[in-house]
Formats: sequence, structure tokens, C-alpha cells
Amino acid sequence: APFPILLSGPVQKGFGRGGKELGCPTANLPDESITPISTVAKTGVYYGYAQVLPPTEGAEQFGPDDFKVQPMVMSLGWNPFYKNKQLTAEIHIMHEFKTDFYGFEMKSVVLGYIRPELDYTSREALIEDIEVDKKVALNSLQRPEYEKYSKDAHFE
Ligand code: ADP
Ligand code: MG
Repeated sequence: APFPILLSGPVQKGFGRGGKELGCPTANLPDESITPISTVAKTGVYYGYAQVLPPTEGAEQFGPDDFKVQPMVMSLGWNPFYKNKQLTAEIHIMHEFKTDFYGFEMKSVVLGYIRPELDYTSREALIEDIEVDKKVALNSLQRPEYEKYSKDAHFE
């Protein structure tokens, strides 16, 4: 695959399909901004880096690291709401945010593929797999070849 893939756009409201309840909120990218990865067209879980950009007003509600480049895992999948005709990309940033950031500009660099989408028989199995994905992402991102992308000119 043609990594790195750069994706950016304002964070959209999703359908609240349990991201937060699973302990894994995902910041949704707008449909227009996922074109660079839709050519790859392989659904599943990816890893890389992401950065939320500070707003022009109201930045004081946020923590000191909230606008830094952070490791992320991203799910790329067909959205059942659009009868599986529309791809969606949702990014979980591996950082504890003090406040939601809907509408904020988010930049990301996708560096690798972890696994295809799987069907889960239980919520617990899904949560466990997400934890494995995060570990895989953090391990891979330790390689100097990947770490250098956290300082990519794409970020601010
Ligand atoms: P939605 O269906 O609206 O995407 P989620 O439960 O997936 O709802 O929550 C996503 C929202 O949570 C993001 O848009 C963002 O504002 C907020 N959020 C808080 N912490 C994180 C995080 N670590 N990674 C991604 N989004 C986060
Ligand atoms: Mg989400």
C-alpha cells in the first residue's frame, strides 16, 4: 500500500455507535477527506499519527498535550447507514482529552495496516481486540522509520 497516506478535515459528529461506551471514542473524518485512502479500498484497522489543531477561540478548556501529534488507530469501513455504499474513516487518538473536539481540524498520517474488520460475537471480544490494536500500533510506531513521521511537515 502507498503509505504514508495523509488525511485531514474537520471532525464530524458520528452516529454515536458506542465509541465512547467501549472506552474508544473515534473522531470521524468527513466523507470528502477520505478520498486518499478510498483508493486503497481495503477495510480494516490502520495505525499512524494524528493531531487536533487548536481552535481560534476556547483553547483554554484543553490540556497542554491535546494539540500535539499523538499515536492513533483508525478504522476504515463501509457505513451501514448508507447501505454500505459510503466508506467511513474513524480515528481513535491514543491520548486522554479533557474536552470533545467536534468541528476542529484534525490532521493524520496513516502508516500501516493492522487487520481486516472482524465480526464479534461479544462486546468483550471487541474491546479486547481494540486493546491489542493499540499495542500493535504503539509497538510499530517505535521504529525510527515511523517515528520520523510524527515530525512530518504535514503537522503543525
Ligand atoms: P461519534 O459517533 O460522534 O463519533 P464517539 O463516541 O465515537 O461519537 O466519540 C467521538 C468524539 O469524542 C470525537 O469526535 C471527539 O470529539 C471526542 N474524543 C475524545 N477523546 C477522543 C480520543 N482519544 N480520540 C478520538 N476522539 C475523542
Ligand atoms: Mg466516532
